[in-house]
Amino acid sequence: MTEYFHSVRLDFEKCKGCTNCIKRCPMEAIRVHEGKATIMQERCIDCGECIRACPNHAKISVTDTLDILNDYKYRIALPAPSFFAQFKEVENVECVLHALLNIGFDDVFEVALAAEVVGFLIHQYIKDNKIKKPVFSSACPAVLRLMQIKYPDLLEQVAPVLTPMEVAARMAKEDAMKKTGLSYEDIGAFFISPCPAKVTEMRNPMNTKHSAVNGVIGVSLIYKDIIKQILAIKSKKNEDYEKLHKATGLGMAWGYVTGESKNVDMGKALAVSGIHNVISLLEEIERGELKDVDFFELQACTGGCVGGPLNIHNLFVGRVRLRELIKKCGIQAPYYTDKQLIDLYKRAHFEATEPIKPKTIMHLDEDMSQAILKLEQVDKIASELPGLDCGACGSPNCRALAEDIVRGVAFETDCVIKLREKVKTLAEEILDLARIVPPSMGDSSKKIEEK
Ligand code: SF4
Ligand code: SF4
Repeated sequence: MTEYFHSVRLDFEKCKGCTNCIKRCPMEAIRVHEGKATIMQERCIDCGECIRACPNHAKISVTDTLDILNDYKYRIALPAPSFFAQFKEVENVECVLHALLNIGFDDVFEVALAAEVVGFLIHQYIKDNKIKKPVFSSACPAVLRLMQIKYPDLLEQVAPVLTPMEVAARMAKEDAMKKTGLSYEDIGAFFISPCPAKVTEMRNPMNTKHSAVNGVIGVSLIYKDIIKQILAIKSKKNEDYEKLHKATGLGMAWGYVTGESKNVDMGKALAVSGIHNVISLLEEIERGELKDVDFFELQACTGGCVGGPLNIHNLFVGRVRLRELIKKCGIQAPYYTDKQLIDLYKRAHFEATEPIKPKTIMHLDEDMSQAILKLEQVDKIASELPGLDCGACGSPNCRALAEDIVRGVAFETDCVIKLREKVKTLAEEILDLARIVPPSMGDSSKKIEEK
């Protein structure tokens, strides 16, 4: 089995062991020992919260670079809807699409266009009662990883449709093969990503065997080049550019939370963003609440993809710009006709081919009876810890430290309060010992009196 790829990593040199990140991680996946953070790979969902939390920029996302384009004869950029919101210089989407061509891509395919298709397909699934309600969006890979680990019983309710990134890659390659006559292998599709979870998703797809995406490039990596090109394009305003932009405002709306629900447009929808909010909501759903909701749009980043950690601009700036662009895009007619979309649905062309499987982690022991014993130990140790959840021990809270102690990777004295108690007891014992006088030096009359 190949090793699971994670995009989120630690830059060891930059980490100062400040413990800021351990509290923000929704999966309790980070520990700090000997002044450096480590990520527990099996727990990490690549949500990027630790990238935001680290004041020392020691948490990074590994993405592909533009060098990967050299491996293909025909290269297609797949910009996410949120990408367009990163440029204050941008007057329209067309300008950004042409800038992408200028930095080395041969073609572009807007993910917003694929998102419109995905929205339609999910709408049809719900309409035809083909999936148990409530239906969960399949778009955010960090949320799906979270569900695999913590809420596996809800996985069967995830919409059986590929993500907009995946659909965009497939549509773009089909178009390119017709246009160029090249083979599938000669054509590379590259997602321009606001988030590390998409990098991980491309390498370890969840609901399809193989991803059609050949590389994921972080927004921050090409940002400056795109700005230069936008300015160059704007200075030659009068040139007649080929029209590349096809998505409507509806597709572009996927860049911000609630955008997907607007596309799905079926029954009662609830859109929630921010991984900690998503966890609270999933817990409510597991308790049997919110039964009247038909569709849940859940996104790990606050505000949706405009809040992605690889973006350049603050979520609120991005949101305002995206709104402007949505307004501008809204006027054009949908690129695909209803007939074409119905045909895609009937042919199950973009349907998931693999079930999303639960992921088991954090066994205290493979043997059930041993695991129960260890759990009792965890409970006992946790009850004796101070319960301050301060994180100074390097574990995110007292219960996590208790687990780490039972797993043999931490000590009770990692807790500063426990350490102080131990030092105090030791000091008292030493003082008691110091008060004892050897019989040869003692007061013999006192000893006789005592008798
Ligand atoms: S926030 Fe985490 S990764 Fe960043 S310096 Fe502190 S301990 Fe290291
Ligand atoms: S990416 Fe998310 S899950 Fe992974 S270590 Fe960072 S905060 Fe935790």
